[in-house]
Amino acid sequence: MTRAVLAWLGLGSNLGDREANLRFACERLARTPGIAVEAVSTFRETAPVGGPPQGAFLNGAVRIATTLSPPALLAVQKAIEREAGRRADGPHHGPRELDIDLLLYGDATIDTRELVVPHPRLLERSFALDPLRELGVDPGTIPRRESPRVIRDPAEFAAHCDALRRGGCRLGLVPTMGALHEGHASLMRRARADCDRVAATIFVNPLQFAPHEDLARYPRPFAADLALCAREGVALVFAPSVEAMYGKDFISRIAVGREAVGMEGAVRPDHFSGVATVVTILWSLARPDFGYFGQKDAQQLAVLRRVHQDLRLCGAIVGCPIVRDADGLAMSSRNVYLQPEDRRAAVVIVAALREARARFLAGERDAERLVAAARERLAGEPRCRAVDYVELRAPDDLAPLPKGPIGPARLLIAARFGDPATRLLDNARVDVDEVLAP
Ligand code: AMP
Repeated sequence: MTRAVLAWLGLGSNLGDREANLRFACERLARTPGIAVEAVSTFRETAPVGGPPQGAFLNGAVRIATTLSPPALLAVQKAIEREAGRRADGPHHGPRELDIDLLLYGDATIDTRELVVPHPRLLERSFALDPLRELGVDPGTIPRRESPRVIRDPAEFAAHCDALRRGGCRLGLVPTMGALHEGHASLMRRARADCDRVAATIFVNPLQFAPHEDLARYPRPFAADLALCAREGVALVFAPSVEAMYGKDFISRIAVGREAVGMEGAVRPDHFSGVATVVTILWSLARPDFGYFGQKDAQQLAVLRRVHQDLRLCGAIVGCPIVRDADGLAMSSRNVYLQPEDRRAAVVIVAALREARARFLAGERDAERLVAAARERLAGEPRCRAVDYVELRAPDDLAPLPKGPIGPARLLIAARFGDPATRLLDNARVDVDEVLAP
């Protein structure tokens, strides 16, 4: 006879008769062989966290004694959610009739693609934690996720990645230069959703900085970076020294071509070769199933897609949407360089993107006039010290657009603010009415 394990399930509903949905969940659990419902918390109203705008939730929790394994329990939860009317194809984190989360399963820590227990953000979420407390769980006893393992040596990184891929596990790689923010966190979350394990790298890569650039003063808040990686469920952080990455005889470079011509390539001539070289090294050490990069650096993404294809690297590159501050400015590690007035003024970049898009959507198809409209917006902001470029390119590979009326296109802007000047990059499709806000 299998011994019963105590488990705690979180319940939530913000669609339909919320209370009836939660009661239905409790009844259905109680009728499931292998599950005994021992206690049900009170239900409380909570504000939604994340996802599109939606109504308030009713949340609660149940304590069960179960002989079911975690995957079997998960299958029961999903079946009950479906019976309550929840559609599998509903919007991600959208409104739902019923959410049943496995919050705790004995004192087990589970970390698979389907199931992570305890939930990585459980301790931050009062809507899940408060009902647990009511059911007698002391948050101090909740097993905490281990901090990511920090590795400095490239060979050791490769060996650990091999271990993470064991048993057919999928490995996601998130290369960064640190000074991590929500943009980086979004890549990690996407990687966590797609893969069983996530490795992040933190390395301020000297090969991609020109001598006059900000290599020396680039922010390096390692402890905070590690905390963010831990919060996002990253298993491994590779943070090598420059010497460990590039021995003193290091000479090789990945040559880049068409995608690196113009825009950033014109302003920073050796930059993309340096990026391509470091990413190729990281990729060959980690051999990931997926590597995650932000659309924020659209030209970098186009260059890396090309390198990945030409060099027949394993796995696939995943481009991720730009994460923005509340006023719309794209998040960047370099935003911390800006004085408050310059930081406020910098949103003119977003206004310029919106301006060009509004004109495109109103029927303007002349590339020069669209670029001029964006430039005019930037020129109207006295704190914008220089505009490096405003260019319309093909949406994904960023090829120059053919002459004549334009179709789908991406507008890319680089502009300088503050003293010493900080270069800010941003881009958006002009033909797609995406929200340029968080
Ligand atoms: P960095 O640390 O600046 O080299 O950036 C590491 C990765 O994070 C790159 O793939 C960037 O494109 C991505 N990234 C940086 N900022 C953002 C953002 N605001 N939204 C989404 N991805 C971002």
